[in-house]
Amino acid sequence: MSKSPKLLDDLSGKNFLVAGAAGFVPSYVCENYLKKGARVVGLDNFITGSKSNVEILNNYENFDFHEVNIYESLPDFGDIKFDYILSLASPASPIDFKIIPLEIMRVNSEGTLNLLELAKEHNSVFLEASTSEVYGDPEVHPQVESYVGHVNPIGPRSCYDESKRFAEAMTMSFKNKYNVDTRIIRIFNTYGPRMRPNDGRVIPNFINQALRGDDITIYGDGSQTRSFSFVTDLVNAMEHVLMLGDHMPYNIGNPDEYSIKEAAEIIVKSIGSDSKLTYCDLPKDDPKRRRPVIDRVASLGYGPVVTFEEGLRETAEFFKNFRS
Ligand code: UDP
Repeated sequence: MSKSPKLLDDLSGKNFLVAGAAGFVPSYVCENYLKKGARVVGLDNFITGSKSNVEILNNYENFDFHEVNIYESLPDFGDIKFDYILSLASPASPIDFKIIPLEIMRVNSEGTLNLLELAKEHNSVFLEASTSEVYGDPEVHPQVESYVGHVNPIGPRSCYDESKRFAEAMTMSFKNKYNVDTRIIRIFNTYGPRMRPNDGRVIPNFINQALRGDDITIYGDGSQTRSFSFVTDLVNAMEHVLMLGDHMPYNIGNPDEYSIKEAAEIIVKSIGSDSKLTYCDLPKDDPKRRRPVIDRVASLGYGPVVTFEEGLRETAEFFKNFRS
């Protein structure tokens, strides 16, 4: 009987370039490979990333960092040849879409192009961190990778949705034209420690409101759904795709689906808060339902292990310490 391939525990001798290294998810991605002995070079312009994440990564001697705008140019890396290039640099919170839409569009277009050119030159495996947002407000539920989406090209989320769709198209073009060894992952809602307290996304908002005893701000009637993945599960899924996957897109997430009202109630209860739920306007184009079909990544040996309750406990602990 053939054994299914496994992830390697030792990646010493391997070189990783991680764009967006100061961000919430990328900081965990860098740490994962640093712990396995790889050399990791991180890039970030700190537009939404945080210096404290880079301080954590600087504790590893095999980590180097360049402060740079990857859509302008990449630094001189000297003799290093990258085995893996990870395109993780985009801001991803709906509040960012309002404030820095052009930076988001540039990083996902010109920035991704610069990284793909480098991957071609270095013969690297290239991974584009795309998003469930490429499905827009989906008419197909749950979302399977073959669904081509329902995106409003001129709506308030379009700077992110459309530039990630463009990044996917460019990644496929480098695969088709130059045979670059590419991967595309579509990341569904992810949460965990190291998110910005003012990130604006639902889990940090609700946890911080519950910790303060403030009203929990539900947008709309709270019947819209999301499927939340804890960050360490995401990192593990990403590694499965990077090491064992092919060039077609993979949904990455946890298929446990909650309405936003349910999520609010679970958070209030788990924190033991006396916060009340309050209802505000639903933002335009807010997707009504979101749940990934993860059969493709599961076929590589991946499965989520962190429950919503466990993940929330850990995240709440982080925000408690952050506040004190
Ligand atoms: N949301 C909410 N209250 C908040 C923040 C977000 O009800 O304080 C809702 C938002 O309208 C959306 C869902 O929670 O339906 C997830 O929002 P988030 O910004 O986390 O990410 P999205 O999945 O929309 O990109």
